[in-house]
Amino acid sequence: MLICTHCGRKYPAEFLRCPICNEPLQLPYFEGKIKKGNKVWKRFADFYPFTLLPKNSLGEGDTPLLYLPKLSQQLKINIYAKNETQNPTWSFKDRGTFVAMQYVLNISRRVGTVSTGNMGASVAAYAAHLGVKSYILVSKEIPEEKLAPIGIYGSEILRVMGDYGELYYKSIEVGKEKGIYFINSDNPFRVEGYKSIAYELAEKIDGDYVIIPTSSGGLFRGIHKGYVELKRSDLIEDIPELICAQAAGCSPIYNAFSQGKERIERVEHPNTIAHAIRNPYPPSGNAVLRILKEGNHCEIAEDHEILEAQKELAKDGLFVQPASAVSLAVVKKLVAQEKIEKGSKVILVLTGAGLKYILPIRINIRDCSINDLSRCFE
Ligand SMILES: *Cc1c(COP(=O)(O)O)cnc(C)c1O
Ligand SMILES: [Zn+2]
Repeated sequence: MLICTHCGRKYPAEFLRCPICNEPLQLPYFEGKIKKGNKVWKRFADFYPFTLLPKNSLGEGDTPLLYLPKLSQQLKINIYAKNETQNPTWSFKDRGTFVAMQYVLNISRRVGTVSTGNMGASVAAYAAHLGVKSYILVSKEIPEEKLAPIGIYGSEILRVMGDYGELYYKSIEVGKEKGIYFINSDNPFRVEGYKSIAYELAEKIDGDYVIIPTSSGGLFRGIHKGYVELKRSDLIEDIPELICAQAAGCSPIYNAFSQGKERIERVEHPNTIAHAIRNPYPPSGNAVLRILKEGNHCEIAEDHEILEAQKELAKDGLFVQPASAVSLAVVKKLVAQEKIEKGSKVILVLTGAGLKYILPIRINIRDCSINDLSRCFE
């Protein structure tokens, strides 16, 4: 059973959005206890309505939480990184794909998604692993180098002209016609996968802030749902403040939040280096706004700030993509504004790996000769 995040009406599992208010649906809140086990899916099995079979897994989840000493000292706060780049296809999307696939296997042998890169790779990999045919819809603007990590798994890549925000709705429509189940960005079962990030964080740290790069809003909703479930189960006392981090060049949620609006408006000319968070009309935008109203916050960063943050994370040994670096860029702003107090425990969700998109990175190289190698070190 699914519940509308806005009006609370109930629907069968195959629905994707509320036909009355067109808002996203979600599974009920689950309560339970933590079990023993080395995988998050086993420890938190009480919080899932179906069994998550280990044989369907590619080893997603249970990612490291790292303390970042240099940045912590520099900003006079305690910064931790939840390193989601260590998932099987190098982004957190795998958590959602794994859980959603358990549902898909019961209803269809064909699956689809709409992608700017990471989602496509994730769905393609799990579909290949599970012997399900997959269709990945990408936009015309996607850089060529992002296609190989999707194509390698043997899925059908369909390059679609037109508005990426629109494609989400169109794909669901056509999917129904053709018997292809679309596990897009904020699919209810996908969001169930994302909530495991909150579980893993709560096991390790009592954080003050969790910074979440946000595009469609699926990840933000998932982490929030996870924390709410932990609180309802008396497993934590307080939910950390959740910070929605967006790129200034495409910030529909921030725009509505900062103007006190109830609903997001489409961004007409999205333009940011952070491609993975460039959704001009996020399908869970209004749902995120409702969560923000409960005492959470939203902030943006410019592309130059994002690229600067990407370099700074590399100084602590972490190579993330621009969409992930937005988290640190936003923290620097919030510390400067004194919105984040000195000494706070701040968790960055490092959503995806840097190797996926290397074109914008500038590096220095020195050319040397083998006959004169010692000279090179002067
Ligand atoms: C998908 C993605 C996001 C945003 O997630 P949403 O669920 O769409 O809000 C952030 N960072 C990276 C690297 C992503 O791939
Ligand atoms: Zn509704």
